[in-house]
Amino acid sequence: MSTESINAPELSGIGLPPLTPAEVAELDQRFQSQSTTEILTWAWNYFGNRAAIGTSFQGAGLVMLHLAREAGLPFPTFTLDTGLLFPETLAVKQRLEEFLCIKIEALLPDLTVAEQTEAMGPDLWLRDPDLCCTVRKVMPLQRRLADLDAWITGLRREQSSTRANVGIIELYTLEGHPVSRDIVKLNPMANWTRTAIWDYIRQHGIPYNPLHDQGYRSIGCQPCTHRTAVGDNERAGRWTGFSKVECGIHTFMSKKTNFEI
Ligand code: SF4
Repeated sequence: MSTESINAPELSGIGLPPLTPAEVAELDQRFQSQSTTEILTWAWNYFGNRAAIGTSFQGAGLVMLHLAREAGLPFPTFTLDTGLLFPETLAVKQRLEEFLCIKIEALLPDLTVAEQTEAMGPDLWLRDPDLCCTVRKVMPLQRRLADLDAWITGLRREQSSTRANVGIIELYTLEGHPVSRDIVKLNPMANWTRTAIWDYIRQHGIPYNPLHDQGYRSIGCQPCTHRTAVGDNERAGRWTGFSKVECGIHTFMSKKTNFEI
């Protein structure tokens, strides 16, 4: 594919050949100096509804959804509903749908929590959180990604050491049967600071999870989320007592692009 076609796609995601690692590297360079809205607009023009926003309703996701809405970019949007989310998280999903006039698809695991307990024993998150996350998060996400060419996330470099080097655009291998293929991961919020996120949310009156006002900075499933102390990184309250720092949705695919940031 020529540089020109990266710059000026005309087909809106229909029948476009996959991006190569070199093209993704070139785009990543360009995106470093572009706004989130410009990056999202490029994604919509390039992939159309073969790109989707995944959100767990952290601050960055809220800002990104608002920016997409303001720019008139109707990306499909999904969330992973593990069956173990806080009631406050489920409530904010509904409030956000009303505020932004969008529908957020809930991706469900194959097993209900009760069925998981019956099959694997009680409180799997206390005994094998990696397996629990695989069943309740990674597998539903894999199924959704199978229908996409690009997954848009709210990852930020400032969140934790494991996220310090995320690219604004990255290329991954999505394992599949019988064939694997490449998929783009777009992180248009990578450079945002926590302060900028919350300034934006307050300025625009965007509904957010009230647990953020009660000492929770990164909010996931109820059994695995705790308040953080002053000085902790943003994700320190997740899987307290385990060495686990990521649920697996951002680590199950192999990355084909590695850039110096
Ligand atoms: S975050 Fe905890 S409860 Fe949620 S899927 Fe992972 S291990 Fe299970």
